[in-house]
Amino acid sequence: MVIDCHGHYTTAPKQLNEFRQKQLARFESEGTYLDPQVNITDDEIRESLENNQLKIQAERGVDLTIFSPTAGAMAHHHGDARISADWSRACNDLIHRAVSLYPSRLAGVCQLPQSPGVSPGNCVAELTRCVEELGFVGCNLNPDPSDGYWTDPPLTARHWYPLFEKLVELDVPAMIHVSCSCNPNFHHTGAHYLNGDTTAFMQFIQGDVFKDFPTLRFIIPHGGGAVPYHWGRYRGLAQNLGRPPLQELLNNVFFDTCVYHQPGVDLLLNVIPAENILFASEIVGAVKGIDPTTGHFYDDTKRYIDAVAHLSADDRNKIMSGNALRVYPRLRAQLEKHNVL
Ligand SMILES: [Zn+2]
Repeated sequence: MVIDCHGHYTTAPKQLNEFRQKQLARFESEGTYLDPQVNITDDEIRESLENNQLKIQAERGVDLTIFSPTAGAMAHHHGDARISADWSRACNDLIHRAVSLYPSRLAGVCQLPQSPGVSPGNCVAELTRCVEELGFVGCNLNPDPSDGYWTDPPLTARHWYPLFEKLVELDVPAMIHVSCSCNPNFHHTGAHYLNGDTTAFMQFIQGDVFKDFPTLRFIIPHGGGAVPYHWGRYRGLAQNLGRPPLQELLNNVFFDTCVYHQPGVDLLLNVIPAENILFASEIVGAVKGIDPTTGHFYDDTKRYIDAVAHLSADDRNKIMSGNALRVYPRLRAQLEKHNVL
């Protein structure tokens, strides 16, 4: 079985974005809130998925995608906490509808209603609704709700603990995933994403969050940013700072395979233990197009993993689905219910 742990609904029908534009315009002009009603038909959802994510899944031999709202559109810096709450609810409800139409091929991960300077405890209600009522298996957590200016405390600060307590209680992981960048120094997917991944890992080295939450689990996407490439630097820094060996973080921190060339995937698999790598491709959209040197899509990441000859069958199974079932334990129930497992 092949589980892609990182896909976004980047092809959602246009009414979703139209609601967002109206919501922000209303808040800017009147300071009031627009009821999060988005009128989209089931057929429109089917069409948006069958011509995109589901088609690509089938072409590439992927059985199921762990599916979340478009990360770049979370844009937590806009408006206030209520604006983020309404927007998150609209996006998460649409994910739930997509998953309900294709429960053997998609599993839900939610967006959190974060807002700069606001306690992440305000996300507990929406996280709980998504997991307990809508059957979601995890969430995306933005380590920088200011979207490019890093004005909130690091992930290891007690600021985040109310949310972490709920993640542990619900036994769901969070993917550390920044949103757009409103700082022109940082290109959205080219710099801000990878900076976010790398920054989160260094924060975990410096803090004691996993002493306080031994079962908390995070997935760092995009191959872990610069982390695997600079593993020696981080081992040395941990040593110099008097922190525990880096291996201890691997009880709680996992990396996905959204790395878009063979040497990068080779390096990831050489440096990070197979137990800590989850297959992912981030379709549709962070990097579109075909690599002229290979003739294949950059984000066809299964092809790179298939090409790693030294990978044992056991390790391959862990990366392609076993680790996802372990890190997202609520996924198993959904798959069993729909006879996928
Ligand atoms: Zn993503």
